[in-house]
Amino acid sequence: MPSKKSPRVAKQQLNPYTRFFNAQKALPTVGNNGQRPDIYNRESVYVVSNKQRGKRRTGRETNQPTWQRLRSAGGGANEDRFMVVTQDNTQQPRDKPVLTASQLDAICYDVIKEPPMQFHVDGTDIAPSIRGLRLSVCVEHTRFQLVAKVTRNMGFQHVPEHRLWNIQWSDSTPHHDLLRNMKRFQQINHFPGMVEICRKDLLSRNLNRMLKLYPGDYRIFPKTWLMPTDAYDVAIYAAKHKRTFILKPYSAGQGRGIWITTDLRTVGKREKLICQTYIERPLLIDGYKFDLRVYTLVTSVDPLRIFVYNEGLARFATQKYVPPTINNSHNVFMHLTNYCLNRRNSQYMVGNGPEAGSKRKLSAFNKWLVDHNYDVAEFWASVDDAIIKTLISAWPTLKHNYNMCFPKHDKIQASFQLLGFDILVDWKLKPYILEVNHTPSLSADESVDMEVKRPLIRDTLNMLSTALVDKEQIIRDDRSEHRARLLSNIYKKKAAAQIPGYSSPNREVGGSDARQACSIGALTQQIAWEESHLGNYRRIMPPRDSDKVNYYCKFYEQNKQPMFADTLASRRRGELNHQTIQRHQRERQQHLFQQQQLLSQQNRWPGDTLQSPRINPVILQSRRRREEAEAHAKKHRALIAREIQRQKEQLLAPTCAKERLGIWQSVRREKRHRYSPKRSNSITKAHRRKQHRNLNQRIRHQRMLELEAQRDAKFLEQHAKHQRLQGGRVIDQSEAKSRISLKSKSSLKNKHKTPKHKRKPILRKSSRSLMTKSRQDLNLTGAQTQQSIHWKAGNISDLETNQHLSWRKERATQLNNTRLRELIFSKMYENGHLTKNDIKCFPDLLYHILSKDFNETHTG
Ligand code: ADP
Repeated sequence: MPSKKSPRVAKQQLNPYTRFFNAQKALPTVGNNGQRPDIYNRESVYVVSNKQRGKRRTGRETNQPTWQRLRSAGGGANEDRFMVVTQDNTQQPRDKPVLTASQLDAICYDVIKEPPMQFHVDGTDIAPSIRGLRLSVCVEHTRFQLVAKVTRNMGFQHVPEHRLWNIQWSDSTPHHDLLRNMKRFQQINHFPGMVEICRKDLLSRNLNRMLKLYPGDYRIFPKTWLMPTDAYDVAIYAAKHKRTFILKPYSAGQGRGIWITTDLRTVGKREKLICQTYIERPLLIDGYKFDLRVYTLVTSVDPLRIFVYNEGLARFATQKYVPPTINNSHNVFMHLTNYCLNRRNSQYMVGNGPEAGSKRKLSAFNKWLVDHNYDVAEFWASVDDAIIKTLISAWPTLKHNYNMCFPKHDKIQASFQLLGFDILVDWKLKPYILEVNHTPSLSADESVDMEVKRPLIRDTLNMLSTALVDKEQIIRDDRSEHRARLLSNIYKKKAAAQIPGYSSPNREVGGSDARQACSIGALTQQIAWEESHLGNYRRIMPPRDSDKVNYYCKFYEQNKQPMFADTLASRRRGELNHQTIQRHQRERQQHLFQQQQLLSQQNRWPGDTLQSPRINPVILQSRRRREEAEAHAKKHRALIAREIQRQKEQLLAPTCAKERLGIWQSVRREKRHRYSPKRSNSITKAHRRKQHRNLNQRIRHQRMLELEAQRDAKFLEQHAKHQRLQGGRVIDQSEAKSRISLKSKSSLKNKHKTPKHKRKPILRKSSRSLMTKSRQDLNLTGAQTQQSIHWKAGNISDLETNQHLSWRKERATQLNNTRLRELIFSKMYENGHLTKNDIKCFPDLLYHILSKDFNETHTG
């Protein structure tokens, strides 16, 4: 309890509307002897007003409000008691029925006479420092009226953002400037970095990573791929399994841009989408598909503390479910369960009772499960498990971001977050995480919303340990610390000016240690508070079962796994750390050495001769180490350089395919780009990705062309062997070699010596001479042709030309009757020569060109 009270606080405590904790003093006296009623250890005090809200009070009320103690329904000794304080000076009429706990919505304050548990941590003395101050909340940045309403009913004061609020409830993730400037008593309803699980692409990336690390444990979401990055993998999967896929935009919500398909070729190659296997057999209630909205509260990330609300919503589709077919896959009212979509359907039912309507309570869903002999406890255990695993997947980022943003929050947690998990249940009662909402809707359109969301907000705010901090004390402490820091800076500057070798001590060392110890104490207080203010929440993390605690421990080690640790970034970070430590050591040693020299100079007698300076062994050792490290680094660099050279050679090896693909040019272009001074860090990631994609594409093309070349070679070989091509002849190896060398020499000569305009006739001449020569060669005996498989083309006879033309004509008519255009384009599309857009734009043109080409050759 605070010893000293400001006059303003004392004034506030006389006011029965004020939230305060030393209720014993402020309670109205009973009878004439001026005795106050005793307050039990834990008691909730309510103000019940019979007066209309918004009416101005006529004068200052002199009389104290009356009170009445209510027995809870069970009447058990351990149960909470409620004390009702009426503000209108009238005793509650005897005939009026006693209010039930749910009716007492206007909670004014919870009274805790003693802390429920006493914790003892070394060096800390923990007793909740509850002050009689009214808590304030900033609800400027939320569009949900219900939040403002409930907070007002709870006695919170509404303040604008620039004031020193205790809690801020906002719909969007706040800017990090706001987070950094938060005072130590302030709390906000977002954790920095929660986007890791609240955006569909990041969620699937994290869950896929965890699935790779722990394949047996992370089957908590449908198989998911990120398009276009994973397009190849999903194509392979689709070829092997006949499945339906659901495609969703990365960060849209409320069912926008979602579609279902069985044919992934309809997906644009560059569209950024999440591709997920569609759960074709969901659990149906009355023939309708539904999903669950499970509200989850995270009160701390380090340690991770997660609570799940026992009440929530089941949101139903508005048309009876039929497994997806081509005809019905576009029907959003059948396949999607989003409230925003389904409320537009005329068949949307606003529920009259708990077991009817398109939106029902989780308690009604649980009843349905019990009625149909399902194991409810087991089902909710698997839901809890999925929620915990999802949050753990983002835990390293959450923890890091929190510690970075709130290094000074030592009294209470700076953030809390109410998340909305969308969970789909299949026919085997297996839950699948579909999405996590960082700002679940708190609008109250129907009575069922009101019944769920109103107590949800109230219980969430009750769970926060905001009341445990002394706001004024913190403000005072911060001010004095600030002043001390300013003064110490001045002193330090003075000291630095007077003493030449003076270096300022590290400010963080003492402070951070003290704060660390304090924050452990605050944490124990927070835990005690949360355990005693659960309301309708249940704690799922840390689990109550010790086996489960051990089970989840392994997931916290995710960033120690090789997949996470062996990234380029982590290696670089390690290197940098190592370098920094070495630099510090060197500096310290130098400093020591200088001090020693200074001492030895001071201790020297005037007559002493100057000795050659002895090198400190510590410095010698450090030098040796540095040299070793440099040698090692040099070796490493040489290795890398060799590897790069090898890869370059591989890439630059002249193959016909590469030339045709223009890889030469692109390599040269890349080189230029790599060493260009314009290159900045911000584009590296995107650029790297693009390069990677281009390289993959080129490799694919190259492979394809090489395959084609191989096929051609095989074909020629076969024909040469079987002597099918008439008019050609097979030449022996030595002749072939000499010809090739001659030909290449002559062509080289031609290239270098002959001017451009003279080249054509020479070529024509040479080809004519070759033709006559080949005609002479035709007379060679068949025995000679058997010697080798080197084959040379001869003249094509008229008969052959006619035969060929007639074959082409026949083939063309044959193809004209088939779907030639589709054939060509599908083939080109399969080979990656065309995008979807090309096909849309150019089919007619391309077809025209092709047919024209054919006609020309045909007539020619
Ligand atoms: P949004 O953010 O747009 O609500 P969701 O991921 O929640 O996107 O999906 C919207 C709806 O689509 C869900 O409520 C659910 O009914 C349906 N849905 C989403 N993913 C699947 C899936 N893999 N299988 C079956 N239905 C799904």
